[in-house]
Amino acid sequence: MQSNRIKVVERVEKLPGEGALEVLATASAMEAQGRDIIHLEIGEPDSPTPGHIVRAAVQALESGQTGYTPAPGIPELREAIAEDISQTRAIDVDPSQVVVTTGSKIIAFYTMLALLEPGDEVIYPNPGFPVYEAMIGFTGATPVPIRLDEASGFRMSLDDFRRKVSRRTKLIILNSPQNPTGAVLPRGDLEDIADIARHTGIYVLSDEIYNRIQYEGQFVSIAAIPGMEERTIILDGFSKTYAMTGWRLGYGVMPEELVGHLTKLIINSNSCTCTFVQRAGVEALRGPQDAVDKMVESYRRRRDLIVNSLNAIPGMSCARPSGAFYAFPNIRPFGKGSKELADHLLLEAGVATLPGTAFGEWGEGYLRLSYANSDENIQRAVERIGATLGRL
Ligand code: PMP
Repeated sequence: MQSNRIKVVERVEKLPGEGALEVLATASAMEAQGRDIIHLEIGEPDSPTPGHIVRAAVQALESGQTGYTPAPGIPELREAIAEDISQTRAIDVDPSQVVVTTGSKIIAFYTMLALLEPGDEVIYPNPGFPVYEAMIGFTGATPVPIRLDEASGFRMSLDDFRRKVSRRTKLIILNSPQNPTGAVLPRGDLEDIADIARHTGIYVLSDEIYNRIQYEGQFVSIAAIPGMEERTIILDGFSKTYAMTGWRLGYGVMPEELVGHLTKLIINSNSCTCTFVQRAGVEALRGPQDAVDKMVESYRRRRDLIVNSLNAIPGMSCARPSGAFYAFPNIRPFGKGSKELADHLLLEAGVATLPGTAFGEWGEGYLRLSYANSDENIQRAVERIGATLGRL
């Protein structure tokens, strides 16, 4: 067959994939050939969705709830989300400010489609969730990364931040607790960022998908800082908190005047979010929360297990993350690039990790390991990593 017959436009041609999904594909292919692989690459809870949530979806299916829903979501779910966000973020949210989507990732995309045009600038963390940079580029806006430095606990440097704000800055993307570093932005930093945003008229996309997985201190949303609710779009969802990655259920909470525009994007693309999945979402928020608490406790234990055992490997150093479920060890002393080392560990140790560079150029020198996995797998993985690095 002749190749290159379809001429794809440049902005699609240039779109990157997502490192985690690509490594998962390679690791799965190795498994299919009989290799024993420990998966620390993908960021998803290792436990199944709690039973009461599954039963709510089955019940909805069996009672015939199989049609379209209103584009921004069923009223019950929008209400449950508004209540939950009002409580957990200490702000007063109305259901009319909620847009339900198939996974939360697309909230970032829709927000950028609605707010950005060529010439606009967007400030975002690097290393950071790679989808931000990809989508900024897709809209034709200019990505302005802020380097997250290990020496300052992987927090955004506010001096750097102030230097990078310009008349063209339209949007700031925050992510706390952060993927891939696990860093949490303290209230003081959020207040300084809010101060700049209010004075310059910049909008904030606050990716709060890991808000329930924070080990120290109370979670703080920038939306709770005075004057910020009217310029903040909160991104959140069910994937991490309720172990529902495959259900594809997320949402945005935003100033009401944006809701109609995001709804038009939904109407013109996927119409609405799956009906019975939304019913399960209502149960997730309104039903018992003990499974979430248990999950977070187990992540805390595994965080300590993985950080302590990585730090016991000569040459390796790993900061203790304050949230999310990723360890981000510094691997510079081994003298190999992140990608080369991650490939080596997959091939030689049978441990799938992600190179820090999957999260941007300033991820060089690091690996990301997801510890949403069993204690046994974490222990086996780190032992194999230690033995393989010892032979370098
Ligand atoms: N934001 C961040 C920072 C993430 O790590 C992820 C998932 N990897 C998402 C958003 C998207 O989650 P989902 O689309 O499954 O809701």
